[in-house]
Parts: sequence; structure tokens; C-alpha cells
Amino acid sequence: MLAVLLNAGGVDSQDWSGALGQVTLVKVETIPLVEGDLRWVFPQLADPAEVLEVLLRADARMRRLADHLGVRPGWTGSGLEFWRYEHVTDIAGFAERGDVSFGLELWFPRTELLKAPRRGPPWEVDAEISVRCNARRDCGSHTIEELPETQYASPIAAAGGVLAAATWLLERGSAAPLSWWRERDRRSGHP
Ligand SMILES: [Zn+2]
Repeated sequence: MLAVLLNAGGVDSQDWSGALGQVTLVKVETIPLVEGDLRWVFPQLADPAEVLEVLLRADARMRRLADHLGVRPGWTGSGLEFWRYEHVTDIAGFAERGDVSFGLELWFPRTELLKAPRRGPPWEVDAEISVRCNARRDCGSHTIEELPETQYASPIAAAGGVLAAATWLLERGSAAPLSWWRERDRRSGHP
């Protein structure tokens, strides 16, 4: 998830060498859930309404989490949003306050930049709570808690995975003050 978050923001494709080492930035367009088309992610959907209904419940949970943290959710202010790359579209949601980030992503598992359009199945849902690296050599972010990566064979099952992830993030984010997450960073300062 780190690489994707770094990529977001509409930067043109380029290689960038910085404190994090060699990072490839790719162009991504961010679109609020309700302004996009679920068939970007699930092209076989005849009627997106059922899947959308589940995703809207997840969207509401992510917005509640952002409200709780006193921040605006996502890049667009939407609880969930489409992240459109050149050949693939993901659905993501996050709420960040200070150096603590609560994020989820529904994506088509891949290990490299795609040269042609590809989509699920399967679709994978990831969710994690992370803190910004505070070591002298900044490595990006440190995962404090995460859900097991789970793959789904159908759009409605994947949407259910997103809802479960958003519910988990809201519960965890509401359970403790933000400083608690920083204190739990065992790699803090990279001893
Ligand atoms: Zn680090």
C-alpha cells in the first residue's frame, strides 16, 4: 500500500531516486466512489446496484473514521474512491491524522506495472494501520496492524471484504488515541 500511496497525486510516470531509494511514480486519477463506474473494477457487473450498496456502507464507515480523527477522508474527500492507473483501477479509502494512517484497498494483485488492461477475479482486499517512519533514514511507513490479505472470486464478495476492512479500521481507529499507535511502533528509530 505504501507504494500506491506514494504514487497518488497525479504525478507523471518517472523514476525518482530519493531517501526511499528507487521509486517509480505512476500517473493516477482519483475519483469519488459515487462519481465513478464500478465496471472499471468489475467489468462483468450487469447491475452494479447490489455491489454499490455494500461499498457505500464501507464508504460511510471510512467517513465516520475521518470525522472521528478530525480530517478529510481520502484524496477527494470521499470515504472510498477509485484510483485509476493507465491499465487498471483500484478502490481505496484512507484517513490520516498526523503521522498515523488507516487505509484499505481493493485491487487486482500484481507485482509490476501493467502494460495492458487486466482485472480480477481474483480481487484482493488489504487494510492496515501504519505510522510514518521516524528513523534518520526514512523508509516510508511502518505497519502496526494489518488484516490478512484476502482474495475474492466475485464482486459482491470483494465488496463484503471492503466493508469488513472499513469496519475494522473504524473500530481500531476509535479504540485508542493516535499517540497509542506511535508508541506501538517497534521499529521506531530503527534500533
Ligand atoms: Zn522506517
